[in-house]
Amino acid sequence: MARAGSHTSDFWGLVSCDMSRYRMGISAGRYWKDKGAPPLGRYFSRTCVAGCGAPLGRCLSREPQRNCHGSVGFPVLVCSSWLHILVLYLRKAEGCCYLVTVVTLQSFRKKIPSNGKGPGEHITKRLELLFLGTGGADTTPRIGCKCRVCQEARRKGGRFARNGPSLFLLGPSLLFDTPEDIAKSLEREQIHRVRRLLYTHWHPDHTMGRRVLEQLNMSILNLKGRKMTDIWLPTWVREDFRRRLGLDEHLQFFERMGIAKIHEITAGETLVVDGVSLRAYRMAQPGLTAFLVKAGKKRVVLAVDDTKGWVPSDQMVEPDLLVMEAGWFELDPRGHVLVPENHWVRRSEASFDETLKLIKRIKPRQTVLTHIEEMNARSYTDYLKLERKYEDLRIQFAYDGLRLKV
Ligand SMILES: [Zn+2]
Ligand SMILES: [Zn+2]
Repeated sequence: MARAGSHTSDFWGLVSCDMSRYRMGISAGRYWKDKGAPPLGRYFSRTCVAGCGAPLGRCLSREPQRNCHGSVGFPVLVCSSWLHILVLYLRKAEGCCYLVTVVTLQSFRKKIPSNGKGPGEHITKRLELLFLGTGGADTTPRIGCKCRVCQEARRKGGRFARNGPSLFLLGPSLLFDTPEDIAKSLEREQIHRVRRLLYTHWHPDHTMGRRVLEQLNMSILNLKGRKMTDIWLPTWVREDFRRRLGLDEHLQFFERMGIAKIHEITAGETLVVDGVSLRAYRMAQPGLTAFLVKAGKKRVVLAVDDTKGWVPSDQMVEPDLLVMEAGWFELDPRGHVLVPENHWVRRSEASFDETLKLIKRIKPRQTVLTHIEEMNARSYTDYLKLERKYEDLRIQFAYDGLRLKV
């Protein structure tokens, strides 16, 4: 067993109670002993272990790999915000593994911005999901549209109006996508810190609000008080970001401003943040991503857009919660045809009927449908009626501000 050394700080508890979070500890110790030194970074957290979310910078020891593998090594990992200086102290223990002790400089201990929580408090065994925006490529009301649904949304607001598609995981402070109106959604939900941002794909309705990072992480009058958001991109999403809409160039601009750090996730790689693990899966539509999210024994599948032709992995079957796009409707509530024959939507977007088939195939305990298009010509009350109609499938249509604990 790994045990704490005499320099143990508060953070030892944080490391030892959730090894997976930092990908180090007992299993890593055994790996080092058996296989030699792994590349530095692979078994360490990619972000500051003290929980500020800032990416770790360079290892200050000259030959980190050799030192890490040595019986005595002092690789020093400095988070790039320079708020936390961490010394990972590795020592060969009796028996089969290494002692791992995390020492933080006393004077830096109190500066831990993690949504106002202390170390360890944001490690979660439950998933808490917040639907920031539940609209689709068009929001509701759609500017310029005077249909019944849009007029009702203007009059009533609340659950009748839908902002651009975005989700937030409350424990790890993880935002999925940045639609144009993301700043307004965050403001409505009183979320003032986003430590991590994950993009599902490049489409404009999911990316065009990315400048929100400037507002969240810096103030023109206080440039020294910049904050950092880790941006995670599946490798295929990054490829699209390099080619489309200047997305990658813009994110690199944020990096140079010191308010963001870009990371990539490969297919099959599991990202672990604050006790929540996320695995990215490529979908059938080009550039699209589905996620399997786990915390404790709970499993959530996210497939928030373009599920046409998607064949979910076996690992995604029977989750506690499935979050999926609603899909387009053949008819409006009065029975009029909504999508004409030969319309491109029929070829490239999943219909509500296809969504129902996917739900039956995945067999979740509960389904929440989102990415709800204005063109469906349905209001909040129309979706309530549909929920009753499909009661046996345990479907709920999301609304802006819906919070779910799994
Ligand atoms: Zn979309
Ligand atoms: Zn309308």
